[in-house]
Amino acid sequence: MTKSFDVIVIGGGPAGYHAAIRTAQLGMKTACINMMLDGDDQPVLGGTCLNWGCIPSKALLDASHKFVEAQHDFADLGIKTGKVEADVPQMIARKNGVVGKLTGGVAALFEGNGVTALAGKGRLYGGCQVGFTPHGGEEEMLSAQHVILAPGSVPVDIPPAPLQDDLIVDSTGALEFTSVPKRLGVIGAGVIGLELGSVWNRLGSETILLEAMDEFLPIADNRISRDALRIFKKQGLDIRLGARVTATEIKGRGKQKTVLVTYQDKAGEQTLEFDRLIVAVGRRPYTEGLLAPDAGVNLDERGFLFVNDLCATDAPNVYAVGDVVRGPMLAHKGMEEGIMVAERIAGHKPVVNYETVPSVIYTHPEIAWVGKTEQQLKMDGESFNVGSFPYAANGRALAAGENEGMIRVIADAETDRILGVHVMGAQASELIAQAVISMEFSASAEDLGLIMFAHPTLSEGVHEAALAARGHAIHMVNRAPRAKN
Ligand code: NAD
Repeated sequence: MTKSFDVIVIGGGPAGYHAAIRTAQLGMKTACINMMLDGDDQPVLGGTCLNWGCIPSKALLDASHKFVEAQHDFADLGIKTGKVEADVPQMIARKNGVVGKLTGGVAALFEGNGVTALAGKGRLYGGCQVGFTPHGGEEEMLSAQHVILAPGSVPVDIPPAPLQDDLIVDSTGALEFTSVPKRLGVIGAGVIGLELGSVWNRLGSETILLEAMDEFLPIADNRISRDALRIFKKQGLDIRLGARVTATEIKGRGKQKTVLVTYQDKAGEQTLEFDRLIVAVGRRPYTEGLLAPDAGVNLDERGFLFVNDLCATDAPNVYAVGDVVRGPMLAHKGMEEGIMVAERIAGHKPVVNYETVPSVIYTHPEIAWVGKTEQQLKMDGESFNVGSFPYAANGRALAAGENEGMIRVIADAETDRILGVHVMGAQASELIAQAVISMEFSASAEDLGLIMFAHPTLSEGVHEAALAARGHAIHMVNRAPRAKN
C-alpha cells in the first residue's frame, strides 16, 4: 500500500527543514526527503547552508580573523604573544565539528517533532504523488495532500574553468584545503569570492580576485562598496575589476601542478599562474530529476520553479521555497518562505515581506543592508535624506579597536519613513536586525532617533545615523539635511 502523508517536503536544507518542522508542529503528518550525503557518505540534513556554505565558511572566517587579530592587533591592545601560527588541519577539523553539531541538531529536531526523515532522492509526479528513491535502492511511491519543493541550488560552473580535483574548486572545495595555497586565484568578487578570498588571504595566500564587471559590489550601497574596495585592497586582496576569465590550463605534474588563468581586461589578454583557483561565479537552481513530465510545475525563463507571491506553483497543492524560486538566494529568505507555506497549508495567513530581506557579507569589516540603496532611489527618482555615522565616532567601536566603517540611514524626504539602512563595520550582521525591525514596523528616522540605546554600544551608531538623517546627530558636526534629487 502507498504510504501517505499530509505533507512531503523534498529537500532538507534551511527552507525545507523549517517547512517540515513547522508543518509537524501544526499537527500534520510530515516526511522530508533529503538526498545530501556528508564526506563519509552518510545522510545529512541542513543542506548547503549547514554543510558547505553559511556555517562552515563562518567557522573559517571567524578562525582566520582571530589569527589576523592575534598577529597584528593584540600588541596594540597590550597583549604580547609568541609566534602565532595557523594550524589549518585543526581549523578544518573544528569547522567540521561545528557542522556536525548543527546537522545532528536538525536530525534531533526532526525526531522530537515527529518528522519522518527519508534519505534519498525525491521526484514529483502528478496529483501530489512523490517517488522516493533511497540511496542505492528502488523508487517507491508515496502520496501526500501537499508537497513542498525545496531542492536548493548548486554552484554555477563556467566552461573556461571546469573543476579539477583540488586545483580548480568551487566554494565547497575551497572549504577543504588542507594547507594554505601560496598563490590563490578567485574568479568572481561577489559574496562567496570575497568571503572565501578573505579566509585564505588572512591565512597567508597571495590572493587575486578576477571580477568580470567594471563595478565593485553593485548590489550594495555605492558609498559602502567604494570604501569596502579600499579596505579590502589594504588587507591584501588584489581585486581586479573588468577582468573576465576566458580560459584555464593545468600546468606541471603531481604536486607541482599549477593553474594558468587567461583573462581579458581593458589592456587585452593577460595570464596569471596560481596554485589553487576558486570558481565563485554564482549559483543556479537545482532541479535535475525533480519533476516527472506530469508534475504540472513550470519553470521560469531562468530555470527557477515558477511560483506566485505565496510560493504556490502551477500544480494544485504543490509549493516551492528557497533558492529554487525567485528572489535572493539567502538561507533566511528560504526559511521564512518554508514557514509561510507550512502555516498557509494549516489555514493561517502569513506573508513574507520581500522588502525587508537583509543581506550580509561576512568579511571584516562586515557589510550588511536592508531596503533600497542610494543609487536605486536616485534611479527611481525618489527624494530622500541620508544620515551617515562613522564607526570612528562611536566610543564602543574605538574601545574595541573597530573604528573602520559607517552606518547609513536613508529616509524618505517627505514622510521620513526609513527606506534603507546600510552598514559596514564590526557586527554589521547583528546591527542590521535593528533596521529590519524598524522597517518592518514602518518606522521613521525620527522614531529610531527617539528610542533609547544602551551606552556604550555599536548600536548607538544606528541611533546617531537616524538622528543624522534629520540633521542632529550628537557626536558629529551635522550638515543641514538636504533632500537628494
Ligand atoms: P555572486 O553573483 O554574488 O558573484 C559572482 C561574481 O562572479 C559576479 O560579480 C560576476 O560578475 C562574476 N563573474 C561571473 N563570471 C565571471 C568570469 N568569467 N570572470 C570573472 N568574473 C566572473 O555569486 P556568488 O558569490 O557565487 O554567490 C552565489 C549566491 O550565494 C549568491 O546569491 C549569494 O547571495 C549567495 N551567498 C550568500 C552568502 C551570504 O549571505 N553571506 C554567502 C555565500 C553565498
